Amino acid sequence: MFRISQYMRELAQAQQTGQWPAASRRGLGTPPGPVVIWNLIRRCNLTCKHCYALSADHDYTGELSGDEVATVMDDLKAFRVPVLILSGGEPLMRPDLFEIAERAKRMGFYTGLSTNGTLIDAPMADRIAAQGFDYVGISLDGLRETHDKFRRLEGAFDRSLAAVRLLRERGVKVGLRYTMTAMNAHDFAPLLDLMRAERVNKFYFSHLNYAGRGNIHRGKDAQFQSTRDALDRLYDRAWQAARDGLDEEYVTGNNDADGPYLLQWVAQRFPRWTEALRERLVAWGGNASGVNVANIDNLGEVHPDTMWWHHALGNVRQRPFSQIWMDTSDPLMAGLKASPRPVEGRCAKCQHFAICGGNTRTRAQQLTGNAWAEDPGCYLSDEEIGLPAGDATASTRRTTILMKEVDHV
Ligand code: SF4
Repeated sequence: MFRISQYMRELAQAQQTGQWPAASRRGLGTPPGPVVIWNLIRRCNLTCKHCYALSADHDYTGELSGDEVATVMDDLKAFRVPVLILSGGEPLMRPDLFEIAERAKRMGFYTGLSTNGTLIDAPMADRIAAQGFDYVGISLDGLRETHDKFRRLEGAFDRSLAAVRLLRERGVKVGLRYTMTAMNAHDFAPLLDLMRAERVNKFYFSHLNYAGRGNIHRGKDAQFQSTRDALDRLYDRAWQAARDGLDEEYVTGNNDADGPYLLQWVAQRFPRWTEALRERLVAWGGNASGVNVANIDNLGEVHPDTMWWHHALGNVRQRPFSQIWMDTSDPLMAGLKASPRPVEGRCAKCQHFAICGGNTRTRAQQLTGNAWAEDPGCYLSDEEIGLPAGDATASTRRTTILMKEVDHV
């Protein structure tokens, strides 16, 4: 996850004081365990076009029981996992979701809920508020017509927006989650306006990744120019919010080239802060799959992140998560935990590799079969990543991958 607003607030402070703020000392010492995104149930009342879990509205067998979830939570706590994001499917369809959340809160986890929002009426909003979730993310993929088409349910938009309002009225911290593709890029700006009109203070912009149903639709992924246009808009918005002291948070996910792109954005507008920001971005380090973010699926399989459901590292029924997570006998995990990662192609030659970390390995693996190939989702030009213009090797390889992508339309 790339926290745009954090850097924009630092930039605003630097502009005011003439000095880039010192990095927080929080987190020095033994690093905590990863943030765990936990798909507790695969069942969902919707069948969204871009769902990585390929969920449907029926029960799935073999899911972790409440007792098994509790055992895993004990291990996660001992392993110093700080954050649990309870997800699905639709997590509110799991009958013991609130018992799990209650236990998570009692154990001191920062507890988030990732939901489509369509099952949240007033009594459910009361329950969520009473439970004390630290954060609830609700997916909105566009305005009414677009969202309902994406979610394959007429009325889904109205129900999700109603949920946002019900939760906000009860003081729950709510965020909008938006995954951009060519099919909904036109609704991005109106959604940002909606966020502000609804006084929602977090916006999560997700790039499309190539997994699950997102993989099937990768040919319709927004092309690079529209990605850059969207990020320009997002960075402008986040900067304006930081400069004006608004309580708004903008984050992105699934494309760590957003870090170098922010560096460029700052270099063009506030060149004196380029080096200070570069240092901060290198400390962030880019892609965190297999290191600072983890996924446990409904069957207890552990994955490097939610986009690696086709690659299991082990099952929490057989071995504790803490052991699976530290086991680098799996070549993928060894590579993800290596520093630097053994990336190839233009990522290996890129001047921003220390910031971006080589970006999203799933995309490379899905499109080329090689998890260490350059990320074909990188929207920066050869020139921007420091390759000589017309670097034949890199450009040719990139074109080939893009053509493959077109083949899948
Ligand atoms: S070329 Fe690779 S390492 Fe460089 S910004 Fe793009 S994805 Fe990141």
